[in-house]
Amino acid sequence: MGKQALFTERFRSHHDAEASLGALLGKPKGLGRLLKMKSWADVEKKLREGPGPQARSLPRGIYIHVPYCDKICSFCNLNRKERSKADLDAYAAYIADELKAFGAYPYVREQPFNSVYFGGGTPTVLSVDQFALILRALRDHIPLADDCEISVETTQHNLGVQKALALAELGVNRFSVGIQTFSGRGRKVLGRTFDGEKSLEALRELRAAFRGVLGIDIIYSYPDQSIEEISGDAEICIESGIDSVSFYSLMIHKGSALAQSIENKETEFIRNIEWDRERHHLFYEKLAGAGFTLLELSKLARPGRDAYRYIHIQYENGDLIPIGSGAGGRLAGFSIFSMAPGQRFVSPINKQYERYYRMLGELQFGLYDPKRMAAGLPPGAEKAITEKIKELGDMRFLIPPARGSAWALSPDGIFWGNNIAVEVLKTAINAAKKEKAVYA
Ligand code: SF4
Repeated sequence: MGKQALFTERFRSHHDAEASLGALLGKPKGLGRLLKMKSWADVEKKLREGPGPQARSLPRGIYIHVPYCDKICSFCNLNRKERSKADLDAYAAYIADELKAFGAYPYVREQPFNSVYFGGGTPTVLSVDQFALILRALRDHIPLADDCEISVETTQHNLGVQKALALAELGVNRFSVGIQTFSGRGRKVLGRTFDGEKSLEALRELRAAFRGVLGIDIIYSYPDQSIEEISGDAEICIESGIDSVSFYSLMIHKGSALAQSIENKETEFIRNIEWDRERHHLFYEKLAGAGFTLLELSKLARPGRDAYRYIHIQYENGDLIPIGSGAGGRLAGFSIFSMAPGQRFVSPINKQYERYYRMLGELQFGLYDPKRMAAGLPPGAEKAITEKIKELGDMRFLIPPARGSAWALSPDGIFWGNNIAVEVLKTAINAAKKEKAVYA
């Protein structure tokens, strides 16, 4: 079977793959989901008990959402509002109170946390004093592992060197900086602050001053992006001394300013798979040639320089306490979405689906081990999964193991990584179904 025949549409993100997996499993949506809602009292009951052996065996983290930005980027549809509308002192106090409240439960208190992740929005709209309040509450009320990763997402214009060092003093040891491109033209298209030169200068200053982990985000395949522009971005990633880079193909989100502009024909955007693939491969191969390795489907890192514990917790289905308006997470067997102080949506995690979501998460790291995937599934599953993996190997999406039993994704496999993950999961689900053990 040719590659084109196998995939007609590329899943650009883990979320696309999750949605497809949900459909394969027949996971209820809308009203069906609402009917399964639980109350916060059900979660509290579990939190008053200590963590059981299962919870103790998994990494655990805290996700803190700061849903405010100084300026809204043209492509963005994330959960964020303009900062001018926010009372940030009150928001920092709310986060600190939440940390204190969670820290009072034995489930939280009795096992250390490996990662605390500030995402957004742009968390660095908070001042150093507001961060200090939150990080003090964190240390006072939550047990942190000695090497706990404390990571903050940021944009360049609200993280100068002074502020970065002040946050490092307070315990922040990882920054993830949204840059997207160093091309001045590209930055205008994406609605970013700073021109290309200023952005590069700010990155160099930050790298020289900050000794912790420094990762950046790059977007490829934006309107009219030239080969020189994507090459230039790759070269800067290599020479600027960053530890890791997330690279995403631009997604056009309904309702974003860019989507509007394309719809109104103010911005021309013609892209096909080959055009997208050329930019992906160029970026990937330049960085791989400079020694970066695959950390997950859309992230490359210098070996040993970015553990990125937060993503391991997410993909390995560890506990992740969601704090702040718009934060999602999972805790003590419940999926939780935090809306506002005192308002949370809670639903029990379905153990039958769970194994497949965890597989999907693990496949984000780019390794396909049929034995590991088939563990716990009926006997025929390993054979079916192995055959599917070999078929994908014949198509050069996967590279046979040099030793051990895990196949690795080729550059083409990385590009189609979420489609491939769903394809193999489909095989696993069908094999289980055949033996009448759909979710056994
Ligand atoms: S991309 Fe980041 S900085 Fe830009 S509007 Fe979205 S959340 Fe804010």
